[in-house]
Amino acid sequence: MMNLVLLGPPGAGKGTQAARIVEKYAIPHISTGDIFRKNIKEGTELGKKAQEYMNKGELVPDSLVIEIALDRLNEDDCKVGFLLDGFPRTVEQAEALDAYLADKGQQVDKVLDMDVKKEILMERLTGRRVCKDCGATYNVVGMPPKKEGVCDVCGGELYQRADDTAETVANRIEVYNSQTKPLIDYYEKAGNIVHMDGSIGYEELFAEIVKLLGE
Ligand code: ADP
Ligand code: ZN
Repeated sequence: MMNLVLLGPPGAGKGTQAARIVEKYAIPHISTGDIFRKNIKEGTELGKKAQEYMNKGELVPDSLVIEIALDRLNEDDCKVGFLLDGFPRTVEQAEALDAYLADKGQQVDKVLDMDVKKEILMERLTGRRVCKDCGATYNVVGMPPKKEGVCDVCGGELYQRADDTAETVANRIEVYNSQTKPLIDYYEKAGNIVHMDGSIGYEELFAEIVKLLGE
């Protein structure tokens, strides 16, 4: 049983580490951003509401996100634990998560805080490409696919997320600093946060995480 939260600015590499962590520890990967993107693709009411905020790089309102995240945590596969990626993003969301877990006699076991300098974030986010079929992520600078525009894993076509344009990226970083960074203090008080340097290589960082969580 392992309840994990990944914290860090957009572009810190949360998605990349998340994919490896959930594979190694056999826990579900819960990304609120992925849930919203799936709903946008399917044209649901939720997707329509979320899209307005996402395209501007703003946060989807707490009331909406909290309900969706807690519903997801209620599913059976989360009985063995979970890795939250992109949630909580505000103190209000963190409090709702804690209350939900406390009710079940559980808690957030570890918060992995990945910090990266702003200049690196900009470069990573505007260079990010995502596979439209399997969701694998690449970067034209640091982590390119073997063949340009094509997914190494499944051969799918790569695209740039609508919120990875330079303008929206700058706004997302600002939103992170003002609304999500306070969570570092919040978890510091709870005593379950670990700080990691997200600017080291992906492999190196994953090795650090395994060292921390155990084989
Ligand atoms: P990244 O971590 O790269 O910024 P995500 O895929 O986690 O991207 O999120 C994309 C967008 O989805 C966010 O910019 C925001 O608009 C919305 N979103 C995702 N999770 C949350 C959340 N917990 N609270 C509010 N908005 C969210
Ligand atoms: Zn793919």
